Amino acid sequence: MKTILVTGGAGFIGSALIRFLINETDHRVINVDKLTYAGNLESLLSVSDSERYHFVQSDISNIEIIQHLFTKFQPDLVMHLAAESHVDRSIDGPSEFIQTNIVGTYTLLEVARAYWNKLASEKKAAFRFHHISTDEVYGDLEGADDLFTETTPYAPSSPYSASKAASDHLVRAWHRTYSLPVIITNCSNNYGPYHFPEKLIPLVILNALEGKPLPVYGDGKQTRDWLFVEDHARALYKVVTEGKVGETYNIGGHNEKQNIEVVLAICSLLEELAPNKPKGVAAYKNLITFVTDRPGHDLRYAIDASKIGHELGWKPQETFETGLRKTVQWYLENSEWCQHVQDGSYQRERLGSIKE
Ligand code: NAD
Repeated sequence: MKTILVTGGAGFIGSALIRFLINETDHRVINVDKLTYAGNLESLLSVSDSERYHFVQSDISNIEIIQHLFTKFQPDLVMHLAAESHVDRSIDGPSEFIQTNIVGTYTLLEVARAYWNKLASEKKAAFRFHHISTDEVYGDLEGADDLFTETTPYAPSSPYSASKAASDHLVRAWHRTYSLPVIITNCSNNYGPYHFPEKLIPLVILNALEGKPLPVYGDGKQTRDWLFVEDHARALYKVVTEGKVGETYNIGGHNEKQNIEVVLAICSLLEELAPNKPKGVAAYKNLITFVTDRPGHDLRYAIDASKIGHELGWKPQETFETGLRKTVQWYLENSEWCQHVQDGSYQRERLGSIKE
């Protein structure tokens, strides 16, 4: 049994990772999360009673608390997911993105380095600092057939992707300069259960069910490579346990779709799974509304995930069709979770969170 310190474990991907770690492995998980608007402990209710799960509410930039947690829990692995993650919010106010994504990552690296330097040789050799990043650091793809590989030069477009790119550079430098055993993964767009409804797929599902407009940026031709979040959680575990130190692995779903295709696919699933439409709505797709495009919006991202496939034997289990069906079904069956996000009560209750 290892002790895994997960940052940002109350977020969308972090909570999927922790549900996987508690349900599918014997490891102990320490979840360090500040609980910003994106942190939701209700996404962890199914595992939070486990004796192997511990939650600590803290900012990753708080060096005293982070040092204390490393000393107290003696982690074998760190999986760093805590971040400000929404591009539109980064355009409206970049400051938190700089603070959490860059300064927060720097703080964790420094605490991890001091801790790792003092470890006994066996534990020191097995220690890993896994930094979870995004394909958005690579910027826009020009050609219709181009793919991001692990050696594609960085060219971030938004304050979000620039702050993630900066954090990736810090992590690489801590390996090169101080030999800290790091691994980086850069992943494409995730979707699935427990996704905060400001992001495209849950927003469209929930708006459609309420008969509200389904906003699509520009002409809807932006192309993303969609990955089911539980496939991502499995990939992260593979990488942290079997990946090579100092390496980067791209993770993608082999599912390139234009935003408009995604919205239309959700509408057609809802026609089948939620045929009782809101009053006045003849077809869900009639709710689609094209809105002014986001500034600096990248047109196409697509990942070449062959390295993690041939080196570590990972491939996604879900196709876009099976994953999207599971996702729509989940939102239909979990209206309480959605309601608590929409009315804000998920933040007020805090479910007995522990403050260090
Ligand atoms: P999210 O916004 O759903 O969750 C982020 C979590 O981090 C939240 O629980 C939040 O409370 C916590 N957090 C934020 N600031 C913090 C701080 N200063 N200290 C401690 N905790 C803090 O994000 P997500 O979608 O789960 O993404 C997780 C990671 O994966 C991020 O690093 C993101 O860049 C990366 N990523 C996301 C996607 C995607 O499609 N969602 C794709 C590729 C990579």
